[in-house]
Amino acid sequence: MPLPRSVLAVTLYPFVFIRKGCSTPDLRKHELVHCWQVQRDGWLRFYLTYIWHGLTRRYRDIPAEVEAHAHETELPPHLAALVDLGVKNISDVDSVNS
Ligand SMILES: [Zn+2]
Repeated sequence: MPLPRSVLAVTLYPFVFIRKGCSTPDLRKHELVHCWQVQRDGWLRFYLTYIWHGLTRRYRDIPAEVEAHAHETELPPHLAALVDLGVKNISDVDSVNS
């Protein structure tokens, strides 16, 4: 799946695509937060809301991005449950070329 050059990663739950060579712990945590957001909000609601916010706000002002950026350096404890669901292998999908 080709990603636009400015995009390092994208979460299309339950899949996370990270540009080859760009995977970092903080980026993986960021995408894991998006996985959690989809679980919390529901797939349809999350993506419709994200797209609407993406059309009407700057990237950094999208609420889902604000929340994900806030947790990049330290994953909140409640996300540990996702690790138990197999998302721990998120780095294994680091095979996307542009
Ligand atoms: Zn994000």
